Amino acid sequence: MEPRKRFILEERDIPRRWYNIVADMPQKPRPALDPVTRQPLTQKDLSRIFSEEAARQELNTVDRWIEIPEAVRDQYRLYRSTPLVRAYGLEKALDTPAHIYFKNESVSPVGSHKLNSALAQAYYCKQEGLTNITTETGAGQWGTALAYAANVFGLELAVYMVKLSYEQKPYRRSLMQVWGAQVVASPSMSTKAGRRILTETPNHQGSLGTAISEAVELATTVPGCKYTLGSVLNHVTLHQTVIGLEAEKQMEMAGEWPDVVIGCFGGGSNFGGISYPFMRHCLGGEHAGTRFVAAEPEACPKLTKGQFMYDYGDEAGYTPLLPMYSLGHTFTPAGIHAGGLRYHGAGTIASCLLGEGRIEAVDIGQKESFRAGVLFARTEGIVPAPESAHAIAATVREAIRAREEGTPRTILFCLSGHGMVDMAAYDRYLTGDM
Ligand SMILES: *Cc1c(COP(=O)(O)O)cnc(C)c1O
Repeated sequence: MEPRKRFILEERDIPRRWYNIVADMPQKPRPALDPVTRQPLTQKDLSRIFSEEAARQELNTVDRWIEIPEAVRDQYRLYRSTPLVRAYGLEKALDTPAHIYFKNESVSPVGSHKLNSALAQAYYCKQEGLTNITTETGAGQWGTALAYAANVFGLELAVYMVKLSYEQKPYRRSLMQVWGAQVVASPSMSTKAGRRILTETPNHQGSLGTAISEAVELATTVPGCKYTLGSVLNHVTLHQTVIGLEAEKQMEMAGEWPDVVIGCFGGGSNFGGISYPFMRHCLGGEHAGTRFVAAEPEACPKLTKGQFMYDYGDEAGYTPLLPMYSLGHTFTPAGIHAGGLRYHGAGTIASCLLGEGRIEAVDIGQKESFRAGVLFARTEGIVPAPESAHAIAATVREAIRAREEGTPRTILFCLSGHGMVDMAAYDRYLTGDM
């Protein structure tokens, strides 16, 4: 009989609660600080821009489990559980004794894990009586997920999209518009911040910094409007733990436990989402040998080459100061195709865990990531997002080491998204123009 390949949970086994790892961390991350007063941020500070519930979750260091609202679980049911797949094809191609599993978040309607948090954040805004939400987006993955979620819960969404991406990545813009979002190329003339930038630099191409300033300005000046963020913050990672909680049950179905858990790393939400439910057991003293590996791009190596510091979350220095591994908020990474990994800092939980030696990091070159992405497409059938290809490349390295050292191991990685809207990048790779 063919060995079993794909593991799906029964509806009754889909998690009802997210896992808040901070409650279990012996040493808590240091607090985020107000950039002016340098005092720890309070719930009141945070809820000026975020929903009340997101603000509460952001600061929650005591509750290990946080209920997933029924309305959010209802939406999760359309695509969850996502499959856990044994990658026999990849194992065979690498001639490795390692067992490789991946958690396929690309099956969400928007094609990535980002929807897990977008649905939660949009729901809380609706619950709290808001009518509008706003955000910024670089490559467009977060904006796309939020557009879907805003449509589901009946909210108006304005997305500030970095002008360069707005022009170069028309399909993500179209997707947001299909779900009814208003997409504005940033910098724009619609905000004070945007007008100031355009007055100084009329053909500014935009950056996450300009887009964040515009979105935050909108959220603080328009009544009934709040801001949302797709990565980096604790509450975003909290929502992503549904990935690892499902994977934990699915690995049990497969009769295995991972020796290594791997995720690509932008701000840390999919990495934390797949890792922390497994790390829970390490913090509790079981499975102490499990390793957690974050895969970042060589062009943006905050985990392997950054410094631990209090730094701004954005280029312009408008946001609170976060205690994190960072390359400095003015660091401008090269224009690699994995846009979702081009962020200068790492979320505070991951930074704290890295400092304690509980997680490892590897940096992956762009060509190595695409080589791994193409190998994965040819062996497992799915074209991965350029971001996810970094996790695949780190997995390939582990699997080859397992062969060379003759030490079998079980590897689990997160396939954070598919690359069907990133084919221009694959074209460049395949034609040798990278
Ligand atoms: C945004 C994105 C990432 C990076 O963000 P994290 O918060 O680090 O997970 C990775 N993969 C995909 C497909 C993305 O869209």
